[in-house]
Amino acid sequence: MAEFNNNNGFRKKKKVCQLCAGKSVTYKDEIIKKYVSNNGKVLPRRVTGNCAEHQRVVAKEVKKARFMGILPYTNNN
Ligand SMILES: [Zn+2]
Repeated sequence: MAEFNNNNGFRKKKKVCQLCAGKSVTYKDEIIKKYVSNNGKVLPRRVTGNCAEHQRVVAKEVKKARFMGILPYTNNN
């Protein structure tokens, strides 16, 4: 399937779930930081491109990372 170009000039880039693609995400990995915004919130699926199943896994790992002090709960200082 070709990449779809709508008439706003925005290209719809097909995102693939990184976990389905064979990557693993655990709270210890540096990659977990890619799934949180700079406010410390978990990025939505439309940003990460994860599938529903793996988005839940990521969210769980983010929560673990917060508990371990790796990620902040919020960033409102
Ligand atoms: Zn997936």
